[in-house]
Amino acid sequence: MKVLVLRRVLPEVLPEFLALVPEEKRHRFLQLLSQLLRKSDDTEVEPWLPALFDNDDEAIGQATLLLQDFDAYDQAPILLNGSQPVQGARYVNTCFTRAHSELPLPATTCMAAGRRYRLRIDIGPWSTDSIVENPVRFPADHLPATRVGYWLLVAVNSVEFVVDSRQRPFFLPARGPGWICQCPPGTRHTCRAEERSPYLFIDIATPATQGRADLRLTITYGGGLVQSQFVTADIREVERSGAGTRARIDFTLAGLFDTVGTLPQRDMNVTTEQGSDGSHLLTIGGLSSERISFRLTEEQMRDAGGAARRALRDLQEQPVPVPVLRWPGRRKGEHRLVADLARLAPLGRRLWDLLLADRPQQRAVLKRRMRSPVTVQVARTGRIGFVFPWALVYDIGLEDGNPDAHHACRIVDELSSPAPPECPYEREHRLNTLCPYGFWGIRHTIEQPPSVEGTHSIALQVRGARPSVMAVGLGTGLDRQLTEQHLARLAELRPSIVAERHDSRAALVDALARPDLPLIYFYCHGRRQRLPGAVEPVPYLELGPGERITPTDLTALHDQAWAASHWANTSPLVFINSCHSVEITPGSLTQFVDAFSGIYAAGVIGVETVVTQSLASTIAERFWVSFGAGRTVGEALTDVKLTLLGEGSLLGLAYTAYCSANLRLANG
Ligand SMILES: [Zn+2]
Ligand SMILES: [Zn+2]
Ligand SMILES: [Zn+2]
Repeated sequence: MKVLVLRRVLPEVLPEFLALVPEEKRHRFLQLLSQLLRKSDDTEVEPWLPALFDNDDEAIGQATLLLQDFDAYDQAPILLNGSQPVQGARYVNTCFTRAHSELPLPATTCMAAGRRYRLRIDIGPWSTDSIVENPVRFPADHLPATRVGYWLLVAVNSVEFVVDSRQRPFFLPARGPGWICQCPPGTRHTCRAEERSPYLFIDIATPATQGRADLRLTITYGGGLVQSQFVTADIREVERSGAGTRARIDFTLAGLFDTVGTLPQRDMNVTTEQGSDGSHLLTIGGLSSERISFRLTEEQMRDAGGAARRALRDLQEQPVPVPVLRWPGRRKGEHRLVADLARLAPLGRRLWDLLLADRPQQRAVLKRRMRSPVTVQVARTGRIGFVFPWALVYDIGLEDGNPDAHHACRIVDELSSPAPPECPYEREHRLNTLCPYGFWGIRHTIEQPPSVEGTHSIALQVRGARPSVMAVGLGTGLDRQLTEQHLARLAELRPSIVAERHDSRAALVDALARPDLPLIYFYCHGRRQRLPGAVEPVPYLELGPGERITPTDLTALHDQAWAASHWANTSPLVFINSCHSVEITPGSLTQFVDAFSGIYAAGVIGVETVVTQSLASTIAERFWVSFGAGRTVGEALTDVKLTLLGEGSLLGLAYTAYCSANLRLANG
């Protein structure tokens, strides 16, 4: 194959090529490839293959076959229409330039400390200037259909680089490369072609000292994250060649939007990622024109999250004497919800402080934007094990040092099931008010879609027949009477859902082997076990006596026992209702989330803390009734929360959706 042809087919070839190159060699591979692409048009590609693939015979063989395929393909007339050879395939291309230049710095150039540079971004055919190591198509084909195009928002933020983190509009037409212009975002274009620039430039300043510096590039549409890149730079005292700069796409939202018609609107989005020093970086976007980044250490996360979750757990088991609290229309006395609020709200307030105590402006914006119910999307990027208890964040100011002043909102005396979606006395909230609607998890819908790399998609529909089969994995060591009652209630889900019980691991694995299984429900204990060679204890679900299912089992079954497309068309929803599972932490729950989403499940619903078996049953029954009736996961969980709140319980906060809040059962 000639270089001329390679350039044309590169967007198709590159992902396949990269799959042949081990992760640690990709940087080098891309350097060589960009050298090759700069050669004259009639340079032969094949002699370069040994160097490109580091003399790996297997990889060279595969690459040769691939090129032969494309050579043949390229001779087909359909590809020879010249002007737009890669129509449809568009990539977010990123590189750095010097302060007053439009020319890319080579990926192997290290930027100098304490200097000004620019980040240059375009969306179009894959560019050899790009420092992205794992080019993944920008999923425009999955955005809602339009004949014109999309006003996207691009933002960059960083702890190390100095950068203006405002969101900037970028227009992506229905076809062809995107551009920047002076037209107001969201309006029709009145600009002329020559007034458009393909590049978005963002000024940055490198840190004053040498070392590693990271930044995150996010592209959102309708408030939801569409794609995100993690950019890493090796900063030196002076500009010179070395490890240079590189970027990885670590989040791509794609999937079934085309069948749904609209991209879910998201009011606020949060990305979480592991920093280079083990700390966690959280970035909040969608609130104003600015994205906010902050770092938390592992310890801060664990302490704050752990305390809040323990308090939630204790609400069920150890009702304490009611503290001296005031609330209107009543004398001091027993009031369960007020007592629960008094225990949980101060811990939720600490979570809020951890996030925002030192950010007065952002606090104000956040308060304004989140006054009414919104949907918050939390995207975990890469493989990250921690889960921040977003539902427990409490945003009404409380004085830790003045608990006597804590007083209950009027609503606590007027609640009936289901509770209203917003507090009718919101205007009366002031310092030290205890109100259930102060918790983000009561007032808002929080979704934590599974983290996905590459071309994986986030499902918005579970495709099932009518009735849809729900495989129920029953654990041992449960209260028999409660279990039978629970199963009897699940039997009433017909005609929408038919529950099939499985008492052993073997029986459940048989059920999971069905390629069109839409619903999976674990009603069992979750535990953890130390295994030789594993750094962390391995979580498992306990089914029959001494029988267990681990996250690794699921991946192994999918790879070895099931077809590659197993569940790909169904996108089953998994509910892990592991009642009093002391040993399953939210962190180990995410291992199940990752394993299930890695085998085409739409997502997982899980418990954040320990719940009693009877509460776990009640919550699941209400959820399945609502979900079976065609409501989305977000709506069904809200139903559960507000019903429980109407009965005076905050325990609806214990359940988290690790899937799109818009996911629904399509079995009509
Ligand atoms: Zn314009
Ligand atoms: Zn209130
Ligand atoms: Zn249990």
